[in-house]
Amino acid sequence: MTGFRSLTRRSLVAGAAAATALALPRAVAQAQPRGYDLLPQEVAAGLWMITGAPESFARSNGGAIVNIVLLASAEGAIIIDTGSTARMGAEIRAFADQRLGGVARVINTHHHPDHWFGNIAFADRPILALPATGDLCRRSAPDYAASLYALLGPWMAGTTPTPPGQRIESDELVIGGRTLRLLALSGHSAADLVVQDVQTGVLIAGDLLFLDRAPSFPDADVARWLRALDRLAGLETSGVVPGHGPFHRSGAALAQTRQYLELTRDRLDQAAALGLSPVEAMAAGPAPAFRALGANPEEYIRTVAQRWADHERTALPVIGGL
Ligand SMILES: [Zn+2]
Repeated sequence: MTGFRSLTRRSLVAGAAAATALALPRAVAQAQPRGYDLLPQEVAAGLWMITGAPESFARSNGGAIVNIVLLASAEGAIIIDTGSTARMGAEIRAFADQRLGGVARVINTHHHPDHWFGNIAFADRPILALPATGDLCRRSAPDYAASLYALLGPWMAGTTPTPPGQRIESDELVIGGRTLRLLALSGHSAADLVVQDVQTGVLIAGDLLFLDRAPSFPDADVARWLRALDRLAGLETSGVVPGHGPFHRSGAALAQTRQYLELTRDRLDQAAALGLSPVEAMAAGPAPAFRALGANPEEYIRTVAQRWADHERTALPVIGGL
């Protein structure tokens, strides 16, 4: 850890000195964000976690909003998800190179860009994902890139979407003496990979689980998502890394994600049944229990925009079955 941290500090000091010496105009200085200064923590034996900010994409966080896991193995690190930008991927790789003997494999849990846009830093290593995830990454890359460049600006420098090139088609992987159990589920997206590290029993749940940060719904199928949670509830685990939110050893993310999905579904069904417009449903805000979650109310407002048609269909019977 020391080498990684001091390297980061050195580069920060060098960057600051250069900016002062050249007296860069304010706009130019802002166009060159400093590094993320990621802080991997070893939360279980040989399992390192970088905890994302419990927020939406913003220039203030540089898109570092997602949890990343690095598993030590005899062949180097197995990296699960790579963050939103090339710079973030490069910082993750620097830690793996300095502390974990390089990079053995990269795994992407699903196709949302906060989980794989850092792949460019691992383009020379095998990058694995479920087959549907690879297809969705390739299809959605141009739109995601356009919106992240707009949201994150200079943080995105050098970020070229690099979809996973290898397909996960088994339910177990053994890499450098480390055994991973793989579960192909869906509901948050069309293909959500869950990984369990057999050595520690820790579950790396991707975005099927959120804790203290509002779940995102751009591709959600809530009924499927709830069924996926039933599967996760049946697993024995020693700890949980949600897609967003803190590492924990209880069932907190499972309980909170389920409650959020059910209450949000019911709230929007009810709003549609009452004849509210989507703007009125947005103005009503999230259910009171969830107002203080990270990324709310903006995540709830996005959910109404993205999913309103689902709730209108549920609430309003179509005459004649058309
Ligand atoms: Zn995510």
